[in-house]
Amino acid sequence: MKTITINKKHHKKYNRGYALLSDDAIDNIGRVEEGELAHVYTNEFIGTAVLGTESKGIGWMISNEKLEKLDSNYINDKIDDAMEKRIANKKFDIMNSAEYHSNTNAIRVFNGIGDGFGGITIDYYANNYVVSFYSEGVYKYKKQIFDSLSKFEYTALYEKKRFSETGNYIESNDFVKGEELNPIIVKEYDLQFPLYLNDGAMVGMFLDQREVRRRVANKYAKNKTVLNTFSYTGAFSLAAAVGGASKTTSVDLAKRSLEKTREVFEVNNIDWKEHDIHVMDVFEYFRYANKKKLKFDLVILDPPSYAKSKKFRFSAAKNYTELMQSAIKLTNDKGNIIASTNCANFDMKKFKKFVDEAFKNENKKYNILEQYTLPEDFVISKSYPEADYLKVLIIEML
Ligand code: SAH
Repeated sequence: MKTITINKKHHKKYNRGYALLSDDAIDNIGRVEEGELAHVYTNEFIGTAVLGTESKGIGWMISNEKLEKLDSNYINDKIDDAMEKRIANKKFDIMNSAEYHSNTNAIRVFNGIGDGFGGITIDYYANNYVVSFYSEGVYKYKKQIFDSLSKFEYTALYEKKRFSETGNYIESNDFVKGEELNPIIVKEYDLQFPLYLNDGAMVGMFLDQREVRRRVANKYAKNKTVLNTFSYTGAFSLAAAVGGASKTTSVDLAKRSLEKTREVFEVNNIDWKEHDIHVMDVFEYFRYANKKKLKFDLVILDPPSYAKSKKFRFSAAKNYTELMQSAIKLTNDKGNIIASTNCANFDMKKFKKFVDEAFKNENKKYNILEQYTLPEDFVISKSYPEADYLKVLIIEML
């Protein structure tokens, strides 16, 4: 059995239960055998880790006991606990999955270390499961994970390998078993989403923005003109259109976004011809909109943490203030801006500072009406608070 000793500087953190093993906390890690268990010590024994190289670290503490191996029940129990937690929450009415009941049939059912086993997430989409593996180490446990899911009588099961050298998705056939349907239709409140579960890293919707979409549809869109930047498949545009927006404008650089957004509108019986969809660099679009003196009642900003643009590289941690200033310029007085980021490198406090700087630079006043973080199905554990990446502010321009 491999043993790992945490260096002194980090004892306190790990004695308190920090779950991610990072290289800089260990002097002599030696060779990491992907998937192997290790007993971890500070000044005393603290627990067992599963080793696996991720962009974030080299493994996860999974127990404070001295485990010699993981039997199949171990993972099975974790998955059962995670499922029960969601089912007990009436919001996630997924048990009777053949039919849509109250809210949604798409949720995260297992959220890595938040549910006690780092490096894997499991998402449920209309009776299909997608298991994402973030290291080769945890991928070694796939049989146990798939076996424990098999009792749920799903339609189809997919896997996503997210552990290339750069930590990105590895292109592959992700279908594991069951009956493949393309697309499947997922329902969320009053919205429907066509998803392609075997079409790369992203399946067509982001579950973590569920409540924000709902607020757009219920509160912020009626009779409004809406600009949705970094629109991807147009999920926020759809929410706005269903919520009675007078018109939506979606902007995304990716060519696929045009047909995907049209499809999303079509599935919801909304005429996409009444909406604008631009395949375009958002930063170019800002210039164009300024020149044309366009203004919107609601502007949605949901950029990736890092984005390439023709002229410069956008990094949320470095450039959010500038992005926000561009949005302010395009928003009508008394209008709203929804500012969102999935960047884990800064917290809500810092995010609010970026926003505040932007308004100061633009000489405008504002109010924060609402704020959102991850929804309840994205369970976060105290042992790894960094997993709480999502920050959304709903802002009113004064
Ligand atoms: N807001 C979306 C998710 C955005 S994902 C939703 O809620 O579903 C990030 C998107 O940003 C991707 O679709 C990507 O194509 C797009 N993107 C990245 N850089 C861009 C740029 N410079 N201009 C426009 N779109 C960009």
